[in-house]
Amino acid sequence: MIELPEALNLAKQLRSELMNRQVTAVMPPTKLHKFCFFNKEPALYHNDLVNAKVVDAEGFGIYVDLVFDNGLRLSFNDGIHCRLLVDSQLENYQLLIKFDDERSLAFSVGMYGALLLHDDHFGDEYYKASRSATSLFSDEFPKRYYEILDASKNSLSAKAFLATEQRFPGIGNGMIQDILYVAGIHPKRKVHTLATIEKRALLESMIRIAAEMIEKGGRDTEKDLYGVPGSYRTKMSKNTLGSPCEKCSDIIVKESFMGGSVYYCPSCQKI
Ligand SMILES: [Zn+2]
Repeated sequence: MIELPEALNLAKQLRSELMNRQVTAVMPPTKLHKFCFFNKEPALYHNDLVNAKVVDAEGFGIYVDLVFDNGLRLSFNDGIHCRLLVDSQLENYQLLIKFDDERSLAFSVGMYGALLLHDDHFGDEYYKASRSATSLFSDEFPKRYYEILDASKNSLSAKAFLATEQRFPGIGNGMIQDILYVAGIHPKRKVHTLATIEKRALLESMIRIAAEMIEKGGRDTEKDLYGVPGSYRTKMSKNTLGSPCEKCSDIIVKESFMGGSVYYCPSCQKI
């Protein structure tokens, strides 16, 4: 799933590959996926985009926007796979955009995802939250973090605090695993029980791990525009499950929690 590091990296790759390229055709889904959402009939995307040129690509939160010179944006979100193809011999896609240099951009979907074409006055609340989120790297972020933390309910777990309700758009169930590990906090830990030093460690870990993931072009559990995994080596993920923790050598475990998996070190992240 695309989270902030992958959104930023995809936007960077799209800018470098597709700036000023002109759309020659947009093909609708080969077979419509039940959980792929469009905000209008996908067959109509062709008329809106044909002859338009790419003028920018932006990544924010869990979204990537491809921006065209006719004022339209194609926004895709966390469950979408976006690949650049030299020849469009892909058999299945939810949308395929052909460009004037024979290359194409193919979009497919994992469990669910959205491919939205709009004129920048888009009302979806997830989109707006992603686009207006306070940057983790801004001077205002620590203040915002403590405000959200102080307003949290007693029952809120560390995982829910970080990854739900758009508190921190772009941080999802992937990024939180390493953020919590580096901060030494168990995913199920109630945030109201965190000591001052732990709150601070969590804030620092969010900023540091996000910066590292961004710098390395995303996590090794996700693929980029060319289908290549990111260079950030995840510490707590399906890739490291069952291996020794790099700090204490205890074995990394996995549990189901809140509709997803959590990976953690039972010794470094005690509840
Ligand atoms: Zn450990």
